[in-house]
Amino acid sequence: MSLLSIVLPAYNEEKMIVKAAEVLTGLMEQKNIQAELIFINDGSKDDTWQAIQKASGMYSNVTGICLSRNFGKEAAILAGLEHAQGDCCVVMDCDLQHPPETVIEMYSLWQKGFEIVEGVKVSRGKESKIHGLFSKSFYSMINQATGFDMSRSSDFKLLDRKVVDEYLKLPERKLFFRALSFWLGYKSIEVEFEVQERTEGETKWSFVSLMKYAVNNITSFSTAPMQIITVIGFLFLIFAIALGIQSVFNYMSGESLEGFTTVILLLLGIGSLLMISMGIIGFYISKIYEEVKRRPRYIVSVTTNKDEK
Ligand code: UDP
Ligand code: MG
Repeated sequence: MSLLSIVLPAYNEEKMIVKAAEVLTGLMEQKNIQAELIFINDGSKDDTWQAIQKASGMYSNVTGICLSRNFGKEAAILAGLEHAQGDCCVVMDCDLQHPPETVIEMYSLWQKGFEIVEGVKVSRGKESKIHGLFSKSFYSMINQATGFDMSRSSDFKLLDRKVVDEYLKLPERKLFFRALSFWLGYKSIEVEFEVQERTEGETKWSFVSLMKYAVNNITSFSTAPMQIITVIGFLFLIFAIALGIQSVFNYMSGESLEGFTTVILLLLGIGSLLMISMGIIGFYISKIYEEVKRRPRYIVSVTTNKDEK
């Protein structure tokens, strides 16, 4: 019989752990699916780790991994996938906003031979307008830059063992789980799901963290921003040549002192463009720096598994 691994990253989810373990274990038993649940405590500030230990005491198929600090959801997913033993792995949020029943649907599609089952959102749940606007522009940029339409995609996915192994081979420090499974290819299918309301706790995304997430993922997935500034630079050059010709022309016809406003506007415009450009380039350099340091992507402090360590 094949084994399904369910990877559940958790950051400040003390109230959700036992509930998630209970719901998922019950459902898997009912459907006769052999499953292991891997909870990753991503450096929570509350009693999430205690809750995971409790759940692993209650259910034999629950394992917990405790990271030494908050490494972010991507790192937590990676830690879970590296520890997963299953023939296929599902990554889902442990706040139960990803409906457990969809896991069953994903599993049966996997049995039919699909190697990646993508969970796609039919509704985005309750979201603020500004959040909606930003995620829309973020995904349209990603779409432009990579050619993948990810606007409905989520981190809720099933991956075959083969895909997991390939994913784990990727060497970059900063991963983007949602997009990399597109990049990997394989035979995939989409499954729609409704984002559930959060029952306990609160979302970990602040405006600032969303912005960081967006910038980080756009720059780790494409060099389009650098190309765009080059194009803008060229446009400015054409403009400058035209203006240069005009000034020389004015000088020769003796009307050279006019156009003060134009000069100021150009100065400000070009100045800010240069600063933005340098910022973008600096960002890429800092990414290179981060990658070449080759630090581990996460550090495990303890696990609930008695065999390990
Ligand atoms: N999460 C994590 N590390 C973090 C932030 C979030 O492991 O630094 C987990 C969190 O516990 C949850 C999932 O990622 O299981 C999604 O987070 P959240 O529910 O806050 O996001 P939303 O559903 O609001 O998009
Ligand atoms: Mg959530």
